[in-house]
Amino acid sequence: MQNRINQELSLSAKEYILESNQISIIPHAGPDGDAIGSSLALLRYLKKLGKQVKAICPNAYPEFLTWLHSPEELEVFETAEKDCTAYINASDLIFIVDHNSFKRSGDLGKLLEEHKATKIMIDHHPMPEDIADIALTDTAMCSTCEMIYEFIDALGDNDLIDEGIAECIYTGIITDTGGLSYNSSNQRIYEIVGNLMAKGIDKGKIHGNIYDNFSAHRMKLLGYCLNEGLELLPEYEAAIIHLTKETLEAFEHQDGDTEGFVNYPLSIKGINISVIFMERDDAVKISFRSKGDIPINQMARDFFNGGGHINAAGGRTYDSMPKAIEKFKKELPAFYKNL
Ligand code: 5GP
Ligand code: MN
Repeated sequence: MQNRINQELSLSAKEYILESNQISIIPHAGPDGDAIGSSLALLRYLKKLGKQVKAICPNAYPEFLTWLHSPEELEVFETAEKDCTAYINASDLIFIVDHNSFKRSGDLGKLLEEHKATKIMIDHHPMPEDIADIALTDTAMCSTCEMIYEFIDALGDNDLIDEGIAECIYTGIITDTGGLSYNSSNQRIYEIVGNLMAKGIDKGKIHGNIYDNFSAHRMKLLGYCLNEGLELLPEYEAAIIHLTKETLEAFEHQDGDTEGFVNYPLSIKGINISVIFMERDDAVKISFRSKGDIPINQMARDFFNGGGHINAAGGRTYDSMPKAIEKFKKELPAFYKNL
């Protein structure tokens, strides 16, 4: 099957790469497997082209992704502001990966917005903002990692994809599709996965590192969510999970522990919308999931300062947790009626 990335834009991007002296790669704030995987895969490829390059994460990333990289490949802005700022400032090319708005670049947003460097966006989210000189964006792609594979392939550099690059790409593909469960009904994705296997990835090791690597506290927190934390609204095919700061602390919550929790209620017959509210220090973070053609990103966008894909979106509010839940319950009937 044919490579699905825009060939012409990819070739223009390569020209910028070859001309550049120092490159920064920026994943979105609160990075997930796809954000980290795509940043590292791209970084390793650019290193093979002989480039000076660093991935800089706006803030901390989940523990279950640390095995993917060595310390010199990726730095966290939040914990090394001076170093990261200096490195980004000295870069003449910046890749914005797995997001399409500076609002999603966390505390790096302003710096990136004002930066004069050439910017290349590689992303698969809807509604890209006009923030890059070259925008490779395609919502048909299951993950940004799939795009990185196609990008390298389109440039005729498939031979440069080694096991280290392949395992980063595979990580993003499986974490963004729930293990090739959703958003992955395309033959090409399986062809890519087949090619990644041919590059020597250890599928068992990767799955073990991602899915069988949690703390006991995280498992117990999941148990709490599905028991005390769960509220069903069957008349709207919806489920709500809420987690207060006290609960998160009681279960010794670590970054990334709640990743994936929001998907569980969708296994209940008749539940097609699932939302989790998580109380943070400064805001309530909300994750939305839906099935089929229910555009839950609309709800995130219209009422919770967020956005995302049709079936997976996120947002936040500075209201209290009870107020946030009340707002969702108030908007849900009209949203459901319009489906
Ligand atoms: P999650 O619920 O896993 O944080 O995010 C689900 C999806 O929604 C991801 O694809 C993510 O990029 C997107 N998303 C999460 N939070 C936001 C947000 O605040 N704004 C936008 N535009 N997208 C978001
Ligand atoms: Mn992604």
